[in-house]
Amino acid sequence: MKKIYEWKYDDNHSVKMPVATIQGSRDGPIFTVTSGMHAGEYAGILAAQQLIQTIDPEELSGTIKIIPIISLEAFMMRNMQLSPVDSREVHYHRPGNPSGSYTEFQIDKLFELVKDSNYLIDIHAGEFAQALHPWVPVPLVGSEQINSASISLAKGFKVDYIELKRDPEAIPALCVAMAEHGIPNIWVECGKNGIPTPEHISINYNGVISALKTVGMLSGQPDRPEQKEISGRRYQVNAGQSGVWHPAIKEGEIVQEGQYLGRLTDFFGDELERYYAPEQSLVLYYWTSPAINYDRQPHGYDWHTGLISMITVEE
Ligand SMILES: [Zn+2]
Repeated sequence: MKKIYEWKYDDNHSVKMPVATIQGSRDGPIFTVTSGMHAGEYAGILAAQQLIQTIDPEELSGTIKIIPIISLEAFMMRNMQLSPVDSREVHYHRPGNPSGSYTEFQIDKLFELVKDSNYLIDIHAGEFAQALHPWVPVPLVGSEQINSASISLAKGFKVDYIELKRDPEAIPALCVAMAEHGIPNIWVECGKNGIPTPEHISINYNGVISALKTVGMLSGQPDRPEQKEISGRRYQVNAGQSGVWHPAIKEGEIVQEGQYLGRLTDFFGDELERYYAPEQSLVLYYWTSPAINYDRQPHGYDWHTGLISMITVEE
C-alpha cells in the first residue's frame, strides 16, 4: 500500500510524508526504513525507492514500512539540512510537542507513523556541500537487549566503520526517543555531495536487506562485511568568522595530532585562519563548499560555519 499522508500545520504549511507499506505473506515484526530527513541526501532516498520496488511480499515475514522522503517540503525545494520553514534541525528534536514549531510538528507526526516499529533504520548522507566517508552510527541508550539489536542492524552495511555512541548528549534526540520507546534503531551515513552514486545506493540497499535477513524477515544469510568499531570523541572544526574555506584533507583520512587541516581566507584570498588537528582523528566528513557564513547561525546551529567533522581514533 502506498499513501501520501498530509497534516496541516498552519495556513501556509503542511507536512506531507509518502509511506509505502509492504505486508509479508507470513507474520513477523514491523521494520521501518526512513530517508530524506535532510532533503538533499539522495542516496538514501533512491535506495528506499528501490526497496519499495523490489521487496516481494511472498518472501517476506512481517511488515516493512518505508518512508522515502521524511521532509517532502524541503525535498521539493532542493533544500539542504536545516528546515526551509523554520531553519531547525529535524534530527535534534524529540516527538511530543506538536503545537511547537513546524519541525516539532513534523517530528511528532513522523513518530506517530513509526512508533509501532520493532526495528528502524534511518538513512542519511552528505549534503551537496559535504564530502562524507560512509559509516553507521549506532545509538546505545536503551537496554542491553535493545542496544545489541541495534548493533546487529548495522552489521550488514559495507562500510569501514560503525560508530558505537554511548554518550546520550551526542545522540540525536529522535534516536534517543525511539530507543526509549523500545525501538532498536540506527542511522546510516552513506553518500556524498548530494550525488546518488550507484555504489552508495547499493550499500544502503544491501545493508537494509541484510538487516531484514538478520531479524528473520527475509530468508538467507546476511552479508557480514568487514567493519571496524569506533567510539572516540566526536568533534567539529568550525570557522570563527565568515570567509572562503580551503580544505587540505579528504573524507576517510586519518589525521595526526597537529596536522594542518586547511585555512580560511577573505574574499581576495588573504589568509584569516589556519586549522590543525588537536588529536589523531578520522575525518568523517568535511564541507566542500568554500562559502562560510558566520552570521548565518539560526537557533545557534553551526552548520554554516562547519568545516570538518571528526572522531578521535587509535591506530
Ligand atoms: Zn542527514
